[in-house]
Amino acid sequence: MLEFSNTYSELPDRFFAHVKPTLVPAPKMLKFNHALADELGLDGAMLDSAEGAAIFSGNKVLEGTHPIAMAYAGHQFGGFVPQLGDGRAILLGEVIDRNGIRRDIQLKGAGRTPYSRGGDGRAAVGPVLREYLVSEAMHALGVPTTRALAAVATGDDVHRETVLPGAVLTRVAASHIRVGTFQFFAARGDVEGLKSLADYVIQRLYPELEGSGPPYLALLNAVADRQAALVARWMHVGFIHGVMNTDNSSISGETIDFGPCAFMDAYDPATVFSSIDRGGRYQYQNQPGIMQWNLARLAETLLPLIDEDSERAVETANQVVIDYAGAFQQYWLAGLRLKIGLHTNEDADGEFVQALLSLMHQDAVDWTSAFRALGNSAGGDDMPFWSLFKDRAAADKWLAEWRARLSREPGFDEQRAAGMDNVNPVYIPRNHLVEEALAAAINEDDLGPFERMNAVLSKPYEEQPGAERYTEPAPGDRAPYRTFCGT
Ligand code: AMP
Ligand code: MG
Repeated sequence: MLEFSNTYSELPDRFFAHVKPTLVPAPKMLKFNHALADELGLDGAMLDSAEGAAIFSGNKVLEGTHPIAMAYAGHQFGGFVPQLGDGRAILLGEVIDRNGIRRDIQLKGAGRTPYSRGGDGRAAVGPVLREYLVSEAMHALGVPTTRALAAVATGDDVHRETVLPGAVLTRVAASHIRVGTFQFFAARGDVEGLKSLADYVIQRLYPELEGSGPPYLALLNAVADRQAALVARWMHVGFIHGVMNTDNSSISGETIDFGPCAFMDAYDPATVFSSIDRGGRYQYQNQPGIMQWNLARLAETLLPLIDEDSERAVETANQVVIDYAGAFQQYWLAGLRLKIGLHTNEDADGEFVQALLSLMHQDAVDWTSAFRALGNSAGGDDMPFWSLFKDRAAADKWLAEWRARLSREPGFDEQRAAGMDNVNPVYIPRNHLVEEALAAAINEDDLGPFERMNAVLSKPYEEQPGAERYTEPAPGDRAPYRTFCGT
């Protein structure tokens, strides 16, 4: 019914620990992702069942499965921790999806592992449903991300600040290897381990690098490029990861570990939601620079593989890290051009975009609404855009300059408006609505709001009748939104 291969567990023993999920008392399927099951070539009808709940809670380990917890290290808020690892995640194995891509199937919250340190190895229903909702929303928005295959309630209590109902999330990734996985071996001076890991990564995630000379510098380059593209996509949709530690930066270039993440509403480049991010290290505008810092940490681990001459290794690796900044800038601006309906490049476009962002910042304009409303302007109706601003004279002035710029673009207004609607979402997981959906699920056993929100977010670029409330920012009288790491 579900057969895993286990290429990661064929790597040397020190890469992971064999571990069995801890039994739970009463597994119950909360949500199963049929579209994803299909993509993975799994029998959704069979798995969305009591049997599936047993499998995706960890209670039933199918024959031929070799579950493991992966070892890794990481910089957390800038401080290095040489021993982290899957403290509550258990990799069941891998499947080959319909596109021939190998994908990890991992249980998150399946009990303690040798890497749990002080933790209980568990997850609560709230954070599990939150990760389900937000990761699937990110996917629908077109952002590379880990996916959610199932959320299963365990029937167990989880002790955080309060007692909470427990759950297990089944997470799917192109791979769960992190920058911190490389750091784990580098910190131990284990060059052989590093090489095995790098070779595994190249073969699995970057096969195009095989056979064309020494691949390790090229690997760093390829990861840097995917990360530049990824963070640019985050910025385009107003996503704030919240805890961009090196152990939460994936080598595949997918968004991973949706702890305290949230979407920005009013545009403020300094937005922080996470209650533990007191210094604002991971604020919205810092994300590109933080990813560069994380890539520098990855580069350090690869030095012994890049060149025997350590000076030369540093020099070439450093250049890759420097070049990331330019690549990010290009991805970012290319996306913003499309968001404002531009398909040609002019030198002044960067400044022009920045002028809009400054106005939005000054008037605390909702990020998502502003770009969507600009699509209306492309179709001739300025009212939706204009009404978002307090300084309407300034908005008018910018719109006039925008029209002048558009006059040098090919294409018709209708085409342009439709094109903008394809890149500017109507729906994002708005924080107050996420909370509302989770509260109903947890306090009233009512998954209705979660299901509705999940359905609306599955088509984020299409206006859906009756879904108007999903477009609205939180009422202005709300206290600033805070997320918590008590995941
Ligand atoms: P995070 O910052 O949430 O991605 O997690 C950092 C580290 O803490 C990772 O090694 C996690 O596996 C571990 N961890 C987080 N929560 C728990 C938990 N409840 N039990 C055990 N380990 C955990
Ligand atoms: Mg993590």
